[in-house]
Amino acid sequence: MRVLVADDDPGTLAILENLLQSWGYLVVPARDGEEAWTQLEGPARPQMALLDWIMPDPDGAEICRRLRRIQGHDYVYVILVTARTRKEDVAAGLEAGADDYVMKPFDADELRARLKVGERVLAFAGGLVAANNMLRTMALTDELTGLLNRGAILGRLDEEHARHGRTGVPMSLLMVDIDHFKDFNDTFGHVAGDSVLAAVGHALRGGCRPYDVVGRYGGEEFLILLPAADDELGHFIAQRLRHIVEQTHVPFDGRRLRVMVSIGSATLRGGLPKRSETLLRAADAALYRAKGRGRNRVSVAMEKDYREDD
Ligand code: GH3
Ligand code: MG
Ligand code: MG
Repeated sequence: MRVLVADDDPGTLAILENLLQSWGYLVVPARDGEEAWTQLEGPARPQMALLDWIMPDPDGAEICRRLRRIQGHDYVYVILVTARTRKEDVAAGLEAGADDYVMKPFDADELRARLKVGERVLAFAGGLVAANNMLRTMALTDELTGLLNRGAILGRLDEEHARHGRTGVPMSLLMVDIDHFKDFNDTFGHVAGDSVLAAVGHALRGGCRPYDVVGRYGGEEFLILLPAADDELGHFIAQRLRHIVEQTHVPFDGRRLRVMVSIGSATLRGGLPKRSETLLRAADAALYRAKGRGRNRVSVAMEKDYREDD
């Protein structure tokens, strides 16, 4: 564990440095507030800080305030070291964002115990952050395919639609539906159906660029956002994906199942359609036409598919 130790008195700094090192901490020393802040501001900031309250600008309390203002980084546990004994001062230090304080002259055993408390708090907070990240990922992910789920892909569609409003860069949307998927379930059972879904999801993801967004829209339907793809490129990529899926063999029960998809493609350009739902509806209309034309096919949305009331 790396601990920043800041004190403008060289004697105290040396004592603290030696003590903490003997307890197994990696000490990052700072001779004044400026040096301390440079360390805490940087990307490789220590996880704990032992800050002298009274130092040339900025003092320990000011460093706490600045630290708590910057968001989105790993929490730094701060212990203020102060000679002040008035109760209001302690309250002010904690209010500035310190987690704990020790009084000068400090007792080594007490300091060590307080550092241990800091370690405990950090370990607990780290566990919460990890759990939180996992929950967030789970909330956005479709379990069967590992792709974005319906809510997440529709959220991204809205975001990309809004981004287009600012940049004007076209974007294509593909709606992909597995052909005669019901037959897999009916003939080989739901487990086979699930394998087919996972394989198609994998093939689609693998056939796209990293910045393309792939999600499972519903049962056996997928949505793909293609940033910076106009009509022509959208159509081209859809054909490529259709072909990739056609070449995919899904191993099941000693067999190799063949699977095909139909794809509808719609494009956002020149600020139209105004609503992302209309784009979705246009891709759906195109998909419907691809099905009608015999499946294993790509259809591009027509002018009338983009019609909006206002
Ligand atoms: P089409 O070519 O017209 O698209 O025909 P289809 O059979 O693919 O389409 P249909 O909508 O008739 O059937 C879709 C089936 O997908 C029905 C539903 O039971 C099945 N399904 C939906 N979600 C899942 C799932 O998570 N796992 C499995 N195994 N089946 C699913
Ligand atoms: Mg369907
Ligand atoms: Mg289908």
